[in-house]
Amino acid sequence: MPIGFRKEEGGGVIAVHSHCPAHRTAISLINLTLVGLKAEIERKRYRSWMSFEQRDRIVVTPSPLKLTDIFLAVKTTRRFHNTRLYLLLETWISKTKEHTFIFTDSEDEDVSSRGYNLIVTGCPSDHSHQALSCKMAAEYDHFIASDKKWLCHVDDDNYVNPGALLSLLSSFPRDSDVYVGKPSLDHPIKANELLEGNKTKEVQFWFATGGAGFCISRRLADKMAPWASGPRFEQTSAVIRLPDDCTVGFIVERRLGVSMVHSSMFHSHLENLLLLPPRNIPLQVTLSYGLFENKMNSVALKGIFSKEDDPSRFKTVHCILYPLTSWCP
Ligand code: UDP
Ligand code: MN
Repeated sequence: MPIGFRKEEGGGVIAVHSHCPAHRTAISLINLTLVGLKAEIERKRYRSWMSFEQRDRIVVTPSPLKLTDIFLAVKTTRRFHNTRLYLLLETWISKTKEHTFIFTDSEDEDVSSRGYNLIVTGCPSDHSHQALSCKMAAEYDHFIASDKKWLCHVDDDNYVNPGALLSLLSSFPRDSDVYVGKPSLDHPIKANELLEGNKTKEVQFWFATGGAGFCISRRLADKMAPWASGPRFEQTSAVIRLPDDCTVGFIVERRLGVSMVHSSMFHSHLENLLLLPPRNIPLQVTLSYGLFENKMNSVALKGIFSKEDDPSRFKTVHCILYPLTSWCP
């Protein structure tokens, strides 16, 4: 008596049948095994579907912002390499070396041979609006070409607190339009925008002072391209006849209609830094120093280094934040 095979409706599993009574027990055992196999196949299918789902979930869940996602652009000039830049290399840049980019105007073998990202811009090495806008344009273009999520600009007299910066930027919704920094004025700046036919129009906008540092999210930076990429940044700067940091504010607030986020955690030497309570200093995103009426304007931190050894107080701040640093007492 031949044994037949019957394909189950809608399924791939085959059932075995025979009309011979002698085969019945064996056949029902075979069929039980086939039913078991079918259930096993279903379970496996379900599990592999689950794992696809889980894998999808891992891809969709955004990973938290990392410090290395931040493009840190430092603006400097050759004559400040020894007096200002070295202090930054020794302190905060030692913590952010891989993603810090130093924009200058002359080669410096001592800096580049130590593995720092030194970008020689070919911009004039003076303090003119045009020269400074040229460097800002280079910072912008290099950031756009990178894979980083935030562009943060600082001057060579700024201390950046990497932990505080990461906390601040992590607090913004992912993929949003953000321009954050501190204004140096208590009101929006007024500018006369040059129009065609030599006409002008008064415009007002907030801007984050470059000397305190500021950050721009990737999404916003991409939208700035029509007024900021390549030669356009300098052209836009010429339209309002104001320096680089004002030009950024003009593009963001007036061209794109995005409001600047005012933060009290960025500091330039245009403010009285002695007024910052010492216990709050380790929480700030940026600090600065500079001469004001022939006296040093720097944060009021006592101890660790004398004012002679550390006039900017950056070494003292760094040793408070990173006490295990080899040169910290
Ligand atoms: N800077 C520059 N070229 C110059 C002078 C200054 O690139 O000829 C840079 C300097 O390195 C710093 C920024 O511009 O990052 C602001 O310069 P500074 O602190 O001397 O002047 P401030 O504008 O703060 O008074
Ligand atoms: Mn300065």
